[in-house]
Amino acid sequence: MIPFNVPPFLGTETDYIVEAIKNQKICGDGPFTKKCHQWLEEKTGTAKALLTTSCTHSLEMAALLLDIKPGDEVILPSFTFCSTADAFALRGAKLVFVDIRPDTMNIDEKLIEDAITEKTKAIVPVHYAGVACEMDAIMDIAKRHGLKVVEDAAQAVMSEYKGQALGTIGDFGCYSFHETKNYSMGEGGALLIKDGGLTADAEIIREKGTNRSVFLRGQIDKYTWVNYGSSYLPSDMNAAYLWAQLQQADMINENRLASWQKYYDAFEELEKEGFVQRPIIPEGCKHNAHMFYLKAKDLEERTALISFLKENGVMAVFHYIPLHSAPAGQKFGVFHGEDRYTTSESDRLLRLPMYYDLTDEDINKVIDTVIKFYKG
Ligand SMILES: *Cc1c(COP(=O)(O)O)cnc(C)c1O
Repeated sequence: MIPFNVPPFLGTETDYIVEAIKNQKICGDGPFTKKCHQWLEEKTGTAKALLTTSCTHSLEMAALLLDIKPGDEVILPSFTFCSTADAFALRGAKLVFVDIRPDTMNIDEKLIEDAITEKTKAIVPVHYAGVACEMDAIMDIAKRHGLKVVEDAAQAVMSEYKGQALGTIGDFGCYSFHETKNYSMGEGGALLIKDGGLTADAEIIREKGTNRSVFLRGQIDKYTWVNYGSSYLPSDMNAAYLWAQLQQADMINENRLASWQKYYDAFEELEKEGFVQRPIIPEGCKHNAHMFYLKAKDLEERTALISFLKENGVMAVFHYIPLHSAPAGQKFGVFHGEDRYTTSESDRLLRLPMYYDLTDEDINKVIDTVIKFYKG
């Protein structure tokens, strides 16, 4: 069976993990965490990057830093992972889902303004498949209405919009280093902070509400409890695993992009003949080959294709059950406007195996099996 995902592993991770243990600093903010912070800041150009225990927790930190309160409203797509919504539901906010664009599966920036009320506090664009949302338009809306922007860039490490790293355009950017993402530490993530002035507040929330970060830098003699917070910092052993991959980030990225391109080229014919649709990468977007998806005619055809692939040794999976149709989505949110594309387009989408070091042999087998399904 060709798996859908294999967590990235280069070999150097184990050496670094052993080193972290030998350093006798396996708690948070040790030497490997610092290396990851520095890499993220240099690579993306953000004012401040902080490793976290997950992208879910990065989103929670953003919601806390924005002081989201019960009754506040947050605008987001319904076609996303539940974590995007959880972070704001936890603070008592009302989730206002708007429709997506069928070309990128990203929030339709043209529908955002109509969903804004005097209670709206933030817009949360999700860069699906590592392909950027229309950030110029979204930042312009946010500016005109005095709203904050939190980018769910879980899938978008190494992606860009008009030359800017995704996750650095909004007020906060949230990365994931879960094992299903392009770069991994098992479970983990990062919070990118555009306004460096918020770093101290973020560090306090991340360190149980204490100013331990300032203490560790030797700027104060002892640390104390100064605000509410939680424990959002990962062990340095996890950071060691991630560091091995960040060092090789360009190589991993190129490897994935090459696999993506092979799929893309191979399905050109099927698309021309009207069988499937391939992903669309708008002008100005540099993606990171986080996933390769196809769109079948409808739900029925997609279900048949997924089972055909499975029978022939290929794991393909769909994505997402729209949040507004899930029980929690109904409890915490409303869909604003018409669901023109969210449900119908998500019904058609299936993701093919995509991971670092996917072999040509396996790619060809996946391609041949899809073609066989349509053409016999
Ligand atoms: C993976 C993912 C998350 C959650 O990431 P974790 O690191 O597992 O918390 C959130 N949003 C999106 C869009 C994701 O793909």
